[in-house]
Amino acid sequence: MWTYFAGLGIGVLMLLWVLQIFFLNNGYERMKIQEVDRVGGLLKSAYKSQDKNLNSSIQELSVINDFYVMMEVKGQILLFAPEQESTLPIYKYKDQLPQLKEAIFKGDPDSPTFFKFSTMYEKYSTLAYALFLDDTKDKEVILYIFSPLYPVTSTVNILKDQLINVTIITLLVTFILAGYLASSISKPIRGITSTAKQMGTGDYNVNFRVDSFTEINNLANTLNMTAYELGMADTRQKDLIANVSHDLKTPLTMIRSYAEMIRDLSGNDPEKREVHLGVIIDESVRMANLVSDMATISAMRTAKMELNKSSFDLSAITASILASYEILEAQEGYQFKFTCPKECFVYADEDRIKQVIANLTGNAIKYGGEDKLVSVNIRRSGKKYRLEVSDNGPGISAEELPHVWDRYYKVSSNYVRPASGTGLGLSIVKEILTLHHARYGVSSKLGKGSTFWFELEMAKPQKA
Ligand code: ADP
Repeated sequence: MWTYFAGLGIGVLMLLWVLQIFFLNNGYERMKIQEVDRVGGLLKSAYKSQDKNLNSSIQELSVINDFYVMMEVKGQILLFAPEQESTLPIYKYKDQLPQLKEAIFKGDPDSPTFFKFSTMYEKYSTLAYALFLDDTKDKEVILYIFSPLYPVTSTVNILKDQLINVTIITLLVTFILAGYLASSISKPIRGITSTAKQMGTGDYNVNFRVDSFTEINNLANTLNMTAYELGMADTRQKDLIANVSHDLKTPLTMIRSYAEMIRDLSGNDPEKREVHLGVIIDESVRMANLVSDMATISAMRTAKMELNKSSFDLSAITASILASYEILEAQEGYQFKFTCPKECFVYADEDRIKQVIANLTGNAIKYGGEDKLVSVNIRRSGKKYRLEVSDNGPGISAEELPHVWDRYYKVSSNYVRPASGTGLGLSIVKEILTLHHARYGVSSKLGKGSTFWFELEMAKPQKA
């Protein structure tokens, strides 16, 4: 970084040297030629328009630009400028006048003639210029301009002296400033790199130090946030492993002890054996649910879930899911209330939407109220169908409500009776509905119950 900064400083200085010292001479001559040409053009147009002030314009321009100007009409020099010097230029440049004249008669009458010459009177050279103001045979009006080319060597020398000072000071300032900038930028970056390395080893409890530079500041803040998120994910992951091993261990212990009981005690008692087998079956169902939830989540994490969309009747699949709860109705007194339009076709992934409805109704059963009532309602909402699953359970507090969609989240409230959840169901629901770009949500009041809902675009029935 220091090298780049210093290099830039040196480059700028070199450019300054080249422009000032080497090109000053050339530039000066080019500028003079342009100036003479410009004045010549001005005077020609003033002559052409028969400007009454031509004489005074010539005087003025010659003084301003330090030129000698002469006008010759049919071989007679009629006008000199500047006036004070009277006829001096004629004597000064008498050797060049015939040359200029010859050149101008030979060349194009509309374009000027230039050349550079030196005389024995002066140390410096002079730029000579001639232009026809009128080239008709009987008039032949010629304009001559002589511009001394004062030597720039002395100026160049002064500049050189000054440039040496400027170079020394600039280089010193550049090196110091470059050093300061380089260290103040690279030091915090080195700090961030070493903290990132520490984070790479799995230590998420790190702090990226913020700095005075906005960009580095932003980087440090972003990395701090990343470290925090990674730390959270890591904690959740560890919690999950702990939960999962605990959750798997409990049903496994139950299955093992009831199996042993059947072998040792109830094997020959049909009644007790049925009860014990029932426990074994329930526990294995619980385990199977847990394992399948975890498998879904991990599949969603590793590969992007592909949707297999088709047009289907939302009310039909809801009815079939509710029908599978018949046993709960018959044996445990649950009530399912289902209202829907006659047909409600949507275009979505049928299996995934079944999974969503099963998760929402399953939760309404698990976390429902004493009345054991679960209501499912489908209705039109604009160009969409809205499905709502409501229960009269203990509900979820406003603080916890936004988190129920998070992975592995279980409401901590005591109102909710312990249930065999995995904390994964709603995050699967969220993932599926997000993939469908569907709106979804929940409203809940403590002690009153909860309503989970989602909306899907209406579709035409698919032709068979
Ligand atoms: P779980 O497998 O634990 O049910 P979910 O992701 O489906 O996981 O739900 C997350 C948490 O949200 C649940 O543990 C529960 O505390 C709460 N929850 C979900 N649905 C309801 C509901 N209908 N009423 C009250 N709480 C609910």
